[in-house]
Amino acid sequence: MTKIFVFLVSVLVSFLGVFYPVYTPTHAPPAIQVQEKPRVAFTFDDGQTNDIGTYKLEDWNERLLSHLKKHQLKAILFSSGANKTTPRGKYVLSSWNNAGHLIANHTFTHPSFSSKNVTLEGFKKELLQNDSIIKAYSNYTRYFRFPYLKEGNTPEKIDGFRAFMQQQGYKNGHVTIDASDWYINNRLIARLTQNPKADISGFREYYKNHLLNRATFYDSLAYALSGRRISHVILLHHNLAAALFLDDLVQHFKANGWEVMAADKAYQDKIYDEVPRNIPAGESLIWALAKQSGRFEKILRYPAEDGEYEKPAMDKLGL
Ligand SMILES: [Zn+2]
Repeated sequence: MTKIFVFLVSVLVSFLGVFYPVYTPTHAPPAIQVQEKPRVAFTFDDGQTNDIGTYKLEDWNERLLSHLKKHQLKAILFSSGANKTTPRGKYVLSSWNNAGHLIANHTFTHPSFSSKNVTLEGFKKELLQNDSIIKAYSNYTRYFRFPYLKEGNTPEKIDGFRAFMQQQGYKNGHVTIDASDWYINNRLIARLTQNPKADISGFREYYKNHLLNRATFYDSLAYALSGRRISHVILLHHNLAAALFLDDLVQHFKANGWEVMAADKAYQDKIYDEVPRNIPAGESLIWALAKQSGRFEKILRYPAEDGEYEKPAMDKLGL
């Protein structure tokens, strides 16, 4: 019975893969019919410290936090440190810390570990330098998220850094649902720069639909791989799009049968103990496990997610 179901899910995933490249945000793929609800936790990367157009840093940051509070969601801010030693940087970290969210590590200068110019020793320093900034906060936690989800391009770097993280008491701050919220955000800001009073409802719709679409895709893939529902972790960024649209996004997930959960709870799922052996290493955990299995070659894109996949649909919608 389970085998038949997994087979059917594989067929569904193949179907989504064939049709996804021409998807438009209004065509969300059908959900898997199982009793247990899909679950997702929210994490936010980088931590910006700038005003955006007419929005002061404090305004948009507090707005983002208010959405999390409304839904009683505990998130993780994966902070990259270079901008966090200023009063603005300290404000961002304390506001998230004091609202009960966890503060985790996303390097000091945000380099790609799969770049030939980035050495193992240099990348270790990135973790340590940022650790010295975030460890001052009471909700500091030792999760490390690789910038661009790039986990190294040689076995020496990949294994070397995994051993180093373990030695430092760090775990990989994996993502299971990757997406291009940053790209939607860039286009939203371009529109608001052009016209601060522009109607942004189309961006809101695109943001919601895009993220639910990617979540549904990775949930189908996760189900095909593991034969169960996992606790997902979605990657979003600390940006204006999240500040303006997160409440709508959470409601959209709930309306489509998803449960939302605390990020530290999601990481208790045993899927996060998996260590894919791909070289180069990285991307979302589900993408990497699917790649390693060799069973989904037809539907796995590389890079898994990028603005170039969203550009035609956003152009067409005039966003
Ligand atoms: Zn980042």
